[in-house]
Order: sequence, then C-alpha cells, then structure tokens
Amino acid sequence: MSETNSEAASPETFGFQAEVRQLLHLMVHSLYSDREIFLRELISNASDAADRLRFEALAKPELVGDTELAIEVAIDRDAGTLTVSDNGVGMSREEIIEQLGMIAHSGTARYLENLTGDQQKDSQLIGQFGVGFYSAFIVADEVEVSSRRADLPTEEGVLWRSDGQGEYSLQGIEKADRGTTVRLRLKADASEFLEEARIRTLIRKYSDHISFPVRMSGGAAGDGAGDEDSSDSDSADEQTVNRAKALWTRPRTEVEDDEYVEFYRHIAHDFSDPLTWSHNRVEGKREYTSLLYIPSVAPFDLWNRESPKGVKLYVQRVFITDRATEFLPLYLRFVRGVVDCADLSLNVSREMIQQDPAVGAMKSALTKRVLDLLGRLSKEEDSEKYATFWEQFGTTLKEGLAEDASNRDRIAGLLRFNSTQSEGVAPDRSLADYLENAPDDQESIYYLLADSPLAARSSPHLEAFRERGIEVLLLSDRIDEWAMQFLDEYQGKSFRDVGRGELDLEESDAAKPVDPDEDKERKHLVKRIKRVLRERVDEVRVSTRLKESAACLVLNKHDLGFQMRELLKASGQEAPASLPNLEINPSHPLIGKLAGEADEDRFALLSTVILDQAMLAEGRQLDDPAAFVRRVNDLLLEADAS
Ligand code: ADP
Ligand code: MG
Repeated sequence: MSETNSEAASPETFGFQAEVRQLLHLMVHSLYSDREIFLRELISNASDAADRLRFEALAKPELVGDTELAIEVAIDRDAGTLTVSDNGVGMSREEIIEQLGMIAHSGTARYLENLTGDQQKDSQLIGQFGVGFYSAFIVADEVEVSSRRADLPTEEGVLWRSDGQGEYSLQGIEKADRGTTVRLRLKADASEFLEEARIRTLIRKYSDHISFPVRMSGGAAGDGAGDEDSSDSDSADEQTVNRAKALWTRPRTEVEDDEYVEFYRHIAHDFSDPLTWSHNRVEGKREYTSLLYIPSVAPFDLWNRESPKGVKLYVQRVFITDRATEFLPLYLRFVRGVVDCADLSLNVSREMIQQDPAVGAMKSALTKRVLDLLGRLSKEEDSEKYATFWEQFGTTLKEGLAEDASNRDRIAGLLRFNSTQSEGVAPDRSLADYLENAPDDQESIYYLLADSPLAARSSPHLEAFRERGIEVLLLSDRIDEWAMQFLDEYQGKSFRDVGRGELDLEESDAAKPVDPDEDKERKHLVKRIKRVLRERVDEVRVSTRLKESAACLVLNKHDLGFQMRELLKASGQEAPASLPNLEINPSHPLIGKLAGEADEDRFALLSTVILDQAMLAEGRQLDDPAAFVRRVNDLLLEADAS
C-alpha cells in the first residue's frame, strides 16, 4: 500500500493529553512480559476498520468498489520496522486527533477513571481493559500512522507520528489507497518481531478468528516456515496467514476454547477472560447464529443509563452495528457477543430492527439462552465462577425481576443471598438451598432488608427466627427492597419481609396467653409509651419477635422501607410520610424497669432512648443525634449516682 508524503505540508506538533501520557508510561512498564499483544491490537483495529467500511458501503457501494478488504503485515528487517496496513474506513484528520491523541475512546477512558495512583495496582488494572492502539509503544520507539478516510480525496491523507513520549506530530499527505497503515520502528530489544516465523505464529495465535485475510508480504511466499500446521486450504494462497473466517460461522466442535477467548477480547475490547459463553446456530424459520459471552469484570459504565450497550450485529456476515440493544433485555446488558442474522435486510435501520417481529422472537430466545447459560454456570463444580458472576452482575440481574415477568422464575432461581445459614461475606444461598433446608410445612420464605450484611446479621428482627432455627435471607443491595416487590412466590412459597407487619410464628412465647393481670399491666405500659412517643411511632405493641433486645421497629405492610426512601430521595422525589411501629419485649429487664417507673419525666426519657436505640439498631439516622447522646449521658450519670 503506497503513499507519498507531500513535501509542501510541514508537520504540526501536538501534546498528548496528560492522561494519555500516564497511560503510555504505565503500559510500557507493566505489560512488558505480554508485549506481543500489540500485534493483536493493531490487527483488531484494522479488522474493525474493514467492518466499518463494509457497513458504510451498504449505502455507498462505491466506497469499496471491487477491492477485497484485507489486512497486510510486512516486515522490513533492514529498516527495523513492522507495518500493519488495512484498506478499511480510515481516519480523517479530526478523527485521528480524537482517536489517537486523546482518551475519547471508551477503553482508555474507563481505564483512566479507575487509576488509583498506586503503580502496582494500576499495572494490574491495565490487564482488565482493552489496551488498544497505544500498546504499539511497548515494542516501538516510534510509531507512524498514515491514514485516509474512504470518503475523502487522495490529497486529504494524514500522517501521525510519535515516539510516545508526550507529543505527536500531524501532517497532511497525499495517500493513494484508502485506509490506514501503522508502521512501528521496533526497539532494539524487540527485534524478535522482525522474524517472519514469529509473526506468523502470533497472527495465528491471536488473529485467526478475524474475518478478513491477514496477509504477509515480503519473502513470505516461498518460505513456508510455520506453515506446516495450517489446517485448511490456506496453502493454496500462501500469503494468507490466518483462517480468515468469521469465528461464529464455524461449527462449535471445531473451535478451541482459546479461540473463543481471543475472539471475546477482540469484540469486547476487554483484556480479561470471559467466564463462559454460548455459541448457537438456529436454523429453520429464522436463521441466525449467536455467540454470547459472560464477562468476568463489569464495565465501569454498567450503571450509566446513557452509555452504549448491546451485542455486535451482523447480517449475513456484514457488520451492522457494535451496539444492537434490541436483542437482549436491559438487565442482561453485561452480555457481550455477536448475533448474525440471515433474514434481516442488509439495509436495516434502527426502526426496522425495533419493529421486526422476528427480532422480538430472537430476543426472547437469546434471553433464555443467557439464563440457561447462567443456570449451567451456577451448577458447575467450580463455584468460583458463579460467585464472580454474582459479585459483578448480581445486582443487574435482579432488575430482571421487574423487567421480565415471563422469566421471573428462572431469574429467581439464579439469585444468591446471604442468610442466617451462611457465614461468608459473599452471598451463596439460592432459593433452592433455602427450601431444601426448610421444613415442608413452612409456608413462607423469610427475608430481612438491611443496610449491610453486617447490620443484617445482628438485627433484633432475627431473634425469634434464630430461636426456632428458621433461616432468614439477608438482603442488603440497594435495590433489594424494590426488586423483592416483584417476587411474590417461589415454588409455591410466598416471600415475607421479617421487618414488616405482625409476626405470626407458631408457638411464640409472647403470643401464649398470659394471665389477666399481666395482660392488663402490659396494655397499660403500651399506652403510656405511646403517649410519650406518639409523634414518632404509629403503634406500640408487645413483640413476638424479640428474645434478647428490648425493642425493635417494624414497618406496616405497605409502607415504604428505608431503601425505597433512599431511592426516591436520590431521584429527587418526596417519599410519602409514614411512621414505624415500636415493638417491645416485656421480658427484657429494661422494659421491666420502664414499667415500674413512676416518675413521668424519667419514664419519657427512658422511652425515648429505647426508641432511639431501636432506630440505631436498624442502621437509621437519628434526627437529633446530639439529643440522644445527652439523654444517654444523663442516664449514665444517674446510674453512677445511685
Ligand atoms: P478501541 O479499538 O478499543 O476503540 P484502540 O486504542 O485500539 O481502542 O483504538 C482507538 C481508536 O482509533 C479506534 O476506536 C478507532 O476509531 C481508531 N483506529 C485505530 N486503528 C484504526 C485503523 N486501523 N483504522 C481506522 N481507525 C482506527
Ligand atoms: Mg482496538
């Protein structure tokens, strides 16, 4: 691929963004042992560029003409350079400034958002993101990119050049061929990449799945070194090094795990390994192939509603879009992959995709596939993987309880919880585990909402359950209260929030009939407390929940809990006012003391402290914490004096 530098235009110098400089520095120092990956990144970009050109050519066929889209890798031993060229879409001057000088593109931006400033941690982090174009500087002391956008005239080529030290230069050039050529002047210690056999091996290792031919020019043809393991008919065309066949079009049985992993890295721009994947071809009325991956690390924009999501859509192998959102529901937005439809028109527009009933049918089939895949993952011997999935994407999956009523049961089966039966920090109890552990006649699945797993474990609400050995699920994700509203039952058992309503556990001590005198006393006490606290609580009652604690707060059945209040507050809405109920434990000495307190002021003081403590035990904020401290201090001093 030829180009001529125009003598007239002199280069202009630009500085990299500070963040880019930082990134370059880190990359060169931390990826030293993996430095061969630069080639994969450059070929991956070339392939993306060819895909994008083919897409633009759907509307403007003249852009491609009759040239074959291909990628070329060339070595010049004398000059010490390695070149990767493509005849893809190319870049305009503006695009090159934006894409290669700033951190505009997603991978780098995400990486930089997460830098900690700690060299060692940051070096590990780098492995989790697509490293991209800048990886060229791991092996090169100078990189030269010449490019011309396919829809621009030959004189609007542009030459970008940098030593990766902080600046780059730009110059207008005449470039006869469209597309991009990246030339690396290899560092002295990177001369291994001037060996043709080595490069061929690397292309096969990392870029076999690229759908375009990757060719090697130069002395390649007669050499044949490293060609012996070429499995298909490539030998007919000795120039083409890779298989040049879209990976998803190959039969599942013929694709190695390594190849799936490399392909994932290419499409997801993610350096880490996926947890698992599912590759399927559907034939018959609708023909399509899907290859869907579950990543092992959540992208940092998972919660950003505006950020792009979706799968890569191809129609008859022609790339259409990177982010087709119509094929999976929002709660599965972490899934990465490819869908290749045989039946869609090549000129599909967004509207057409949205309205096509075939797409709706594919969406529900793909959704089931992903849920099945997760189901299988959850049953694997190696429970680490599912634990990782749950940690990264569990909260996202829970959204499905609201979003996808038709798959609610499947989703429920995939949920994992902390519980009074589990000890670790990581949620590992499933609803199936819960039911297996519960006596057959237990009607409900009990759960508790709290701010954190720790707060949940020490909640007074659990006392009656602990005593009876009834398992309680402990929920502390910020969306749990909201999500649980959508879960009415699982396998015929209903869900009960233990922090709400009256508790009707069998054989509870407090519910046993008490003698009439005692009953009268309790009623009197309840009334007295209510009088003092009427502004702050709805009802005061004798608890059937408590064993060790003096008091606790209980919500009415349909009141909003604290999580929902927080969610509303965060979205700028006013939560409807409602007061909790205070339940007291008459067998607690403090309540006994309260009952015997004749002095009304001291009675009020004690009652208030008991309510404040119940609030604190729930992890709530007190309206006036300083007043609480004063009251407790008064009580402490009194205790001292007596
Ligand atoms: P990513 O591929 O994850 O977007 P890269 O650092 O690899 O990140 O590339 C940055 C951007 O530079 C790409 O998104 C693309 O817009 C542009 N680019 C890189 N190489 C090429 C190329 N060969 N042809 C056209 N554009 C390219
Ligand atoms: Mg890239």
